[in-house]
Amino acid sequence: MPDAFDLLLRAAIDHLEDLKRHGARFVAVNPENISALASRPKAMTAPARAAAVTNQRSQSSPVANATAPIIEMPKPKISPAFPAPTAEPPAPAIVLSGNKVADLAALKERALACVKCPNLASSRKNVVWGVGDIHAPIMFVGEAPGADEDEQGEPFVGRAGQLLTKIIEAMGFSRETVYIANILKCRPDTPGQSAGNRPPTPEEIQRCLPYLNAQIDLIQPKVIVALGATAIAGLFGKAAPISKIRGTFMTFRGIPVMATFHPSYLLRPNGFAAKPLVWQDMLLCLEKLGRPISEKQRGYFKAP
Ligand code: URA
Repeated sequence: MPDAFDLLLRAAIDHLEDLKRHGARFVAVNPENISALASRPKAMTAPARAAAVTNQRSQSSPVANATAPIIEMPKPKISPAFPAPTAEPPAPAIVLSGNKVADLAALKERALACVKCPNLASSRKNVVWGVGDIHAPIMFVGEAPGADEDEQGEPFVGRAGQLLTKIIEAMGFSRETVYIANILKCRPDTPGQSAGNRPPTPEEIQRCLPYLNAQIDLIQPKVIVALGATAIAGLFGKAAPISKIRGTFMTFRGIPVMATFHPSYLLRPNGFAAKPLVWQDMLLCLEKLGRPISEKQRGYFKAP
């Protein structure tokens, strides 16, 4: 039997989905309601449970509050290389203050309590928000957390992450001076599997993307590196082979994007040959940023 909290939560989700089906792109939610929805009440007495259920039946709109402020995120600017996604998912409900640090912290708090994908919300150990310098000139965007990232709450800390860290350091940065995030903030669940990962579904991507869009809008990196096909599909709404689109910049929300191979691809037995290509892409990013490139850096992967 679902309890009152579950019933109210389901009712709230149904109502929001109904609004969305009818074309609503934004809802007004006051900050108290957001924090109240963020955590499950510890225990409810039987009378409180009954009152909550009655209340749920009698209310037509469990979350909307006509007087609360509304945020509107700018529409994405999509490179002409790809068609725009059919509809932009709704922006996360936070009130932007204009203070980058505070707004990113509020967004993170919102994401940490997110239950838009109930299966992921119940299987995750951590929401993997992002890591690094929010003033960084360069942002790396991956696919989704794996088991190690889920465990530690930080993106790219497993084997692929260690390789990404080496690439970042070879560029002259550190993990602390760049920003790293993923398309999906929760580890895709793998029911019935004791190991392995699965790629995010298009629905999961659509639901999670507003968080990344807002991160990008607030951080405003000068260059984004999209790691692998899922990152590209998430950002641009359409899959494309990395081998075809890497090596030239595309544009997302006004920011140059370099697509390159995902570090986990480089770790595969046949992925070794892609390493020099990834490095070429990284040199192009350094040039775009106006960073000095040493002879040593130019010489990596060149025959002696
Ligand atoms: N792969 C990703 O795409 N992201 C991570 O955070 C880890 C592995």
